Amino acid sequence: QAKTAGKGGFSLYSPDAHERARQRVRRVADLREALENDRLELAWQPQVSLEDGRVTGLEALARWPRDDGQPISPAEFIPLAEQSGLILHLGRWVIDTAISEARTLLQTWPALQHARFALNLSPCQLDESLPAMLTERLARAGLPSDCLEVEITESALFTDQAGVTETLNAIGSAGIRLAVDDFGTGYSNIARLKLLPIHRLKLDRSFIADLEHDPGDRELVRALLAMARALDLDVIAEGVETRTQADFLARNGCPHAQGYLYARPQPLAPLKSWLRG
Ligand code: C2E
Ligand code: MG
Ligand code: MG
Ligand code: MG
Repeated sequence: QAKTAGKGGFSLYSPDAHERARQRVRRVADLREALENDRLELAWQPQVSLEDGRVTGLEALARWPRDDGQPISPAEFIPLAEQSGLILHLGRWVIDTAISEARTLLQTWPALQHARFALNLSPCQLDESLPAMLTERLARAGLPSDCLEVEITESALFTDQAGVTETLNAIGSAGIRLAVDDFGTGYSNIARLKLLPIHRLKLDRSFIADLEHDPGDRELVRALLAMARALDLDVIAEGVETRTQADFLARNGCPHAQGYLYARPQPLAPLKSWLRG
């Protein structure tokens, strides 16, 4: 039973907090069940070249369709999975499914031969067994290592979690690409950026959203692009929604973009017809 403190007091067990805790427990149980019954799905979002518009990559994003028709965003269920220990299970599911769907796509669309298939990793997945797991899954699917890109957020990259550097180096030596997700929102140590086997930076959506109206953001994006060039890193802008944003990025030498302007993340079937179109 919820206990409330006296007037004006606060309580650790207010009915609100209690209800929220119950809901969390229910959510975790639902998520575990969804995983066990293979009910999660992947949505793929194309990445394009700003030079010629060609599809240069596809990012896999986890989706949790629900019976009540109210989808829960990965921004909510991924942290839940991380806190509840389900993330390793979920992460393996994402890796297996992304690699198997990538294989299907490559078989039907030879034009994707040089495209890269990207998936997101949580910091807790970066243990010593990950590199071998990835290469084993790729080999089993008959895919070359360099068709896979793993995205790790800037903040996950720059923790002092033990062993992360070794894991990332092993991933790099295996020929798998590494992208820094949500770049610009964390606190990168430029010296460390140079030491890790990073191939590209993904400029966070928050820098792109107001490009049209905010001269400060335009300056910032130019500076980030110049920095990437100096470090010899590839760049992709996230969350590109308008032609004006794309034009600004192209004019300033940003090689790649991803966003609703081109396509929303979508399951395999609609993606195939988008590719056809
Ligand atoms: P993210 O990796 O930075 O993915 C980009 C997010 O921006 C996606 O949200 C995508 O749907 C959304 N997005 C793409 N283009 C646009 C646009 O033009 N406008 C706007 N407003 N949004 C756009 P989503 O799918 O909800 O995923 C949210 C975050 O959840 C991801 O951010 C990623 O950090 C995490 N996530 C998703 N799937 C996985 C996964 O399989 N594993 C892990 N560890 N994290 C995942
Ligand atoms: Mg990502
Ligand atoms: Mg991102
Ligand atoms: Mg993000």
